[in-house]
Amino acid sequence: MKITEISTKSALVRSRIPGVRFVINPYLGCGHGCRYCYATFMRQYSHFNRNSRWGEFVEVKTNLPAVLEEELARKRKIGTALLSSVCDPYQPVEREYELTRQCLKLLRSYGWGIQILTRSPLVTRDIDILTYAIDARVGLSIPTDNDRVRKILEPDSPPIESRIETLKQLKAKGIRTWAFIAPTLPMDPVKLHRLISPHVEYVMIDSLNYKNQVKHIFREEGWEHALTPEYARETREILQKLFGGQVGRESNR
Ligand code: SF4
Repeated sequence: MKITEISTKSALVRSRIPGVRFVINPYLGCGHGCRYCYATFMRQYSHFNRNSRWGEFVEVKTNLPAVLEEELARKRKIGTALLSSVCDPYQPVEREYELTRQCLKLLRSYGWGIQILTRSPLVTRDIDILTYAIDARVGLSIPTDNDRVRKILEPDSPPIESRIETLKQLKAKGIRTWAFIAPTLPMDPVKLHRLISPHVEYVMIDSLNYKNQVKHIFREEGWEHALTPEYARETREILQKLFGGQVGRESNR
């Protein structure tokens, strides 16, 4: 993994994600290296890694907490911020740099709401901050129940079982939890529902949008059916039926 320390001019970025006003991305690049990642376009903003392979570099915005503190102090209204939209805030480098942890401390001290979306159990390290935040919600991305599928499409991300365990631990501490079933990879929806449902308040569902990046892998693995619009629609319908009232509004597209 190539790690580069960089500085940033802004921390809070306006968002068009439904229900999210601001996003914070402490890192440019993502060590989880999901093959279908939607965020690979972020390389165009890099001075160092425009031609690097996604998943093999991370740029660490070392001054981001200081910038965030200035921005929070200037804001007249309290808001909510999501960590993160184009990287995983708990990717492996976070263990050393703790940028996400520092941002959470600041958001909490300024009374801001906190939303987290991650694939990593490392989020449990910050339970001490999340428990006392005014409104904290933690989402775990769980796009399949099948850890072999995960290993092939998300080779450097934590196992599915550890994500379920993470939800359990967070919920046991009174933190609001949800799951992002996205993109809908090859899966057994009934099993996925059984694994997730007891540990979350709600789920969001979205289909695989960046198919070209992974077409060849799906073909090699005999998963062509999971690339079709019918698979996306049917899987969504089955999941919506299984999760019923737990399906969040934004995922009903
Ligand atoms: S965790 Fe998210 S941002 Fe990171 S590689 Fe996977 S899909 Fe992309």
